[in-house]
Amino acid sequence: MNGEYVPLEDAKVGIMTHALHYGTAAFEGIRGNWNEDDGKMYMFKLREHYERMLTGCKLLWIDLPYTVDDLCEITKEVVERSGFRQDLYIRPVAYKSEEKVANLNLRSLADGFFCLAIPFGNYIDSDGAISCTVASWRRIDDTMVPPRFKLSGLYLNSILAKTDAIAMGFDEAIMLNMDGHVCEGTGENIFFVSGNTISTPTLESNVLPGITRQTVIDLARDELGMDVEQRPIDRSELYTADEIFLTGTAAHIQGIGSVDYRQVSTGAIGAVTRKLQDLYFPIVRGQNPKYMNTLTVAAPKVAAP
Ligand code: PMP
Repeated sequence: MNGEYVPLEDAKVGIMTHALHYGTAAFEGIRGNWNEDDGKMYMFKLREHYERMLTGCKLLWIDLPYTVDDLCEITKEVVERSGFRQDLYIRPVAYKSEEKVANLNLRSLADGFFCLAIPFGNYIDSDGAISCTVASWRRIDDTMVPPRFKLSGLYLNSILAKTDAIAMGFDEAIMLNMDGHVCEGTGENIFFVSGNTISTPTLESNVLPGITRQTVIDLARDELGMDVEQRPIDRSELYTADEIFLTGTAAHIQGIGSVDYRQVSTGAIGAVTRKLQDLYFPIVRGQNPKYMNTLTVAAPKVAAP
């Protein structure tokens, strides 16, 4: 935190901190995937995560004293010092640290940075296909707060949609954008399968440019020989697709079994979704030699208990 490695209980911010009041932070959600066979932690596409975070920093006038390489090194060090030997969630946050209230001019405010790592299992509490509903909350538009950056304040939009979906008994919400097209889940991108074609909303649809999204696009094309389309997707396609799945660092590749009580095909995880999962999981855990160059490796420095 701000240049030092400290125990969690010593990593504190004051109640005047700007980011706490206004959500003025750019952050990332990264997984540490523990490989029991070789006793190492694998972080998938770590550079891409920090490149995305730094674009968010630019928008928010956050000027960190670190390069992408520095941030990758810091993250590796945090994971190694933590000593965890299980799957992790890694959360770096670049934030407006100035302890000053009632000031909305970003450029007059000091910046801070921390990165924490905690044990983490499934993001959505289900190993099977999940139930979704279309949220009544629309995805924020690029002209409001740009959703293509991972900015803290933006997540109020996702949080309202997710909270309502859970309250209604669904696992996840699917958000439409302001023009009524399908946008994404609250913390995941969305994909549709019809025959040999995979479709996902374009980056201009107000989706987050997901790292898993790009990975799935590449895997579907290169490994499964499928056609991949990025196009505006109508709401009605949620009720007609052969398969629908969500992608995200936290959610991995998550099959959808129903939308608004209407079953997607058989209601189980679809064949293409399953194939993509079977490709994806070994890659992010360091078990596919072809993709080792997409991984940053960390080995715990603290002796196993
Ligand atoms: N959309 C939103 C709104 C998200 O929060 C996330 C999670 N970062 C994603 C999509 C998926 O992005 P990624 O694959 O990079 O984790």
